[in-house]
Amino acid sequence: MVRLTAEDIQRTHASGGISIVCGECREKYRSAARLEVDYPTTVAVRDLGLATIAILSAIMLFSYLLLTLRLSLPVGVSQVVFLTSAGTSLTGLKMTYNELGRRYRFTHDLRWSLHSRYAIISISLVFSGILAATFLTTLF
Ligand SMILES: [Zn+2]
Repeated sequence: MVRLTAEDIQRTHASGGISIVCGECREKYRSAARLEVDYPTTVAVRDLGLATIAILSAIMLFSYLLLTLRLSLPVGVSQVVFLTSAGTSLTGLKMTYNELGRRYRFTHDLRWSLHSRYAIISISLVFSGILAATFLTTLF
């Protein structure tokens, strides 16, 4: 029998009711405690939309500056925009993989793993990169 600590159940205070459990039960309490969603789905969806718009706008602004500055680039503006978009998506993909991998590894709950602001921002990087590569490159 082992003591169930506050840390085991992800709380600041230990449980008042059950405090001594067997090792097997402690693992069950630990895994259950980790699956609390503290980032509501509605907020996650809103953040995904806002972040995608913000990042897409940043890429658009960058493209616009490239066009108006008329720099003598060794490659065309559309190629620079495409590379920027692809880089944005790849960075987002790497961040998403790291964050989801980290959260999924110890919970095996994809729904819970997605309820993370960092994961949502990472996914919006992937989306905005794809959108920018699809639409912006056709403008130039
Ligand atoms: Zn037990």
